[in-house]
Amino acid sequence: MLYNSTLNKEKKITAAEAIAAGIAPDGGLFVPCKFPAVSEAELKNMLSMKYTERAELIFSKYLTDFSADEITECVEKAYTKEKFGAENPTPISCCAYNGNDLNILELWHGPTAAFKDMALQILPHFLTKSIKKTGLNNKVVILVATSGDTGKAALEGFKNVDGTGIIVFYPENGVSPMQKRQMCTQEGNNVCVCAIKGNFDDAQTGVKAIFTDERINNVLRAENKQLSSANSINLGRLLPQVVYYFSAYLDLVNKDKIYMGEKVNITVPTGNFGNILASYYAFRMGLPVNKFICASNSNDVLTEFINTGVYNKNRTFYTTYSPSMDILVSSNLERLLYHITNENSEMIKELMLKLKTCGKYEVDSDIKEKISEMFYGACCSDKETQETIGRLYSQSGYLCDTHTAVAINVYDKYVNETSDKTPCIIASTASPYKFCKAVLGAVGDNLPANEFEMADALNRLTGVNIPKPIAELKDKKARFKDTIEISGMPGYVTKNA
Ligand SMILES: *Cc1c(COP(=O)(O)O)cnc(C)c1O
Repeated sequence: MLYNSTLNKEKKITAAEAIAAGIAPDGGLFVPCKFPAVSEAELKNMLSMKYTERAELIFSKYLTDFSADEITECVEKAYTKEKFGAENPTPISCCAYNGNDLNILELWHGPTAAFKDMALQILPHFLTKSIKKTGLNNKVVILVATSGDTGKAALEGFKNVDGTGIIVFYPENGVSPMQKRQMCTQEGNNVCVCAIKGNFDDAQTGVKAIFTDERINNVLRAENKQLSSANSINLGRLLPQVVYYFSAYLDLVNKDKIYMGEKVNITVPTGNFGNILASYYAFRMGLPVNKFICASNSNDVLTEFINTGVYNKNRTFYTTYSPSMDILVSSNLERLLYHITNENSEMIKELMLKLKTCGKYEVDSDIKEKISEMFYGACCSDKETQETIGRLYSQSGYLCDTHTAVAINVYDKYVNETSDKTPCIIASTASPYKFCKAVLGAVGDNLPANEFEMADALNRLTGVNIPKPIAELKDKKARFKDTIEISGMPGYVTKNA
């Protein structure tokens, strides 16, 4: 199994090389040269497997330069009962909304109560093994600029992983009080968290400059250290997301909700297009899928793209109740375009150049048709998001977060438009307790002053348990209190790497 850049089909590399590098030197994203197949016989075999065994089987098809033992080690370190609360890290809750059955795939039972844990709990293990395979014995120092969620999920993933360190920068006034508390109380002997006097863009620009700063890289190299990133275009973050779509399908067969071989629809609340792309990868490997339903909030750039073939990031940026989807450039769409154009890297190069220079591109009618055959796109406002949370709760007693609500709202629109009653998996990406203010506002009327009181109020009102990692935050001591100037970032990295 080999990989190449979306911008160059000729140069092929191993999985370990792709994971260690993160992004291709030509600026493209690494993609598999071909999709490995899962036959129906194999699918049937997987029915009786645990999540970790299913994961090992899927990974063994992609990471052919890893030994079976190495894959097992990665999987068993990542998806423990201790970290995810149960043997199955991704349980499905079944309920009804406006007369339609929802199979809600809960991807948020990990240490930070959001779906990014599914990938970031295993990435550190893939990454350290990949770097060793490429012949280096360096300590990997992960640099992250975060607007909240990714920083915490990366910290939890890398904490106490041998051979790694992680430094997270966040904007002093640019994250929620809960997110700040999550990061400043972070445990682990190899982690560092620091606020900067600036906004998220300043943090991001600062981190990018450090990655390419030759002086800093030389200093670190002399100490056998190298910088790396954990962002969502790394192949090592995409592959773990493929697993749970297979696993969800098998769980639905085991629950007699679908029969083996029956097609399903998949609805995903989408930002950077990573999660929904993983479901497309599962489909290309053999998972029976009828339609991918791409749900956006008011930042509806993908809705427009799926419906018109025009991708245009020149538009107002909205801050919404579903902040992890507040994105105008969905990086992983580049991978879908590559696969759907039959690997036309010349065309991808052209489109991505247009995006860079004009902020806009249009695909031809042939590609547009191929996309709309498989994908449906629609969007959901903040008002509709809260209405959906309230209505779902009153109809079925199920409490969902704002991102999941966007997905459920868009799925409802899809069924109304098409009358397609194919069984549907809804990706649920965060615990409602991560977004207490908007969720409590949707189901209750009194809003207490701070987020911990809101969580308690939501718990009293609904009886839904507060996830342990969030409940425990209240009594944790802050370990990281530094706030530095933007100009101090390089010095902070060389001192703490
Ligand atoms: C990151 C995130 C998303 C968006 O996922 P993509 O893979 O970027 O499309 C949706 N919901 C939550 C809660 C997230 O953290």
